[in-house]
Amino acid sequence: MPDGRFAPSPTAPLHLGNLRTALVAWLAARSSGSRFFFRSEDMDQVACRAEHEVSALRDLHLLGLDHDGEVVRQSERVEFYRDAIERLIADDRTYPCYCTRREVLAEASDSIAAPHGVRPAGAYAGTCSTLDAAGRAEREAAGRTPSLRLRANTAVVSFTDGLAGYHEGIVDDFVIRRADGTPAYNLAVVVDDAAQGVGEVVRGDDLLETTPRQIFLARLLGLNVPDYLHVPLVFGPDGERLAKRHGAVTLQDQRALGNTPEDVLAAFAASLGLCEVGERPSLTQLVERFDLTLLPHEVWVVPDALAGSVES
Ligand code: GLU
Repeated sequence: MPDGRFAPSPTAPLHLGNLRTALVAWLAARSSGSRFFFRSEDMDQVACRAEHEVSALRDLHLLGLDHDGEVVRQSERVEFYRDAIERLIADDRTYPCYCTRREVLAEASDSIAAPHGVRPAGAYAGTCSTLDAAGRAEREAAGRTPSLRLRANTAVVSFTDGLAGYHEGIVDDFVIRRADGTPAYNLAVVVDDAAQGVGEVVRGDDLLETTPRQIFLARLLGLNVPDYLHVPLVFGPDGERLAKRHGAVTLQDQRALGNTPEDVLAAFAASLGLCEVGERPSLTQLVERFDLTLLPHEVWVVPDALAGSVES
């Protein structure tokens, strides 16, 4: 009975895509009698705001999605990430990288099909991996502050996703500590999922590509590797990934359109193959009906009933 979690970054109000993924994660946990945690991935103090964490919790509550234990905040767990980083440094698995974002993109070895697997978009080409002490000193003298990258030696990692099936990817030398000293997402998420005992990670399939990095890192740190289930994203009526410009994308927007949280839940349930369109099952019924094999493998386009623009 693997415990689950929902781990949004409070950079904006949750949109229908986030909420639908949260529902799947919650149903996956509750249908197997497991615990479900809420983790606020609020490490980026510039982009994250407490008000978005509050609204995320309120939205989940309105949909009836409860969670176990206290809210876990990454901003309060930095020491654990530092420990993991120190261990990787001590094991000589890291190197400083002085590349700017622009340089990384210019040299990125995007999706080059190698003998095995695919590199994630924006994969680091390894430019700084061979810098010697003089090269580092030169860049430091020029005022560049390094990020810290993990030396992955183009490892190939495969896993079987609960929905997407077999996936194989090349792990690039990804950042584990940003130039401003903040531990990077891929590191924090691995440390946290292990610390919380999360056994099944259910999240949007925009993160499928970075999962080999996380599995690689978990193994390196001797941490448990959870199962993964990546849920296809939600698209707007124009066929683009759901975003603010699509109009009524939050639960609050939906209210302004006259749609209650129950209406939204019913639309999600129908989209997940758990009820007919127009039916209004309770959460208890949804827990009983939840069946991984019913989940669609395609993106979900927001139906007309939920689409619409609101003045905000
Ligand atoms: N915090 C990430 C996001 O909001 C999700 C991380 C995860 O579920 O692993 O995109």
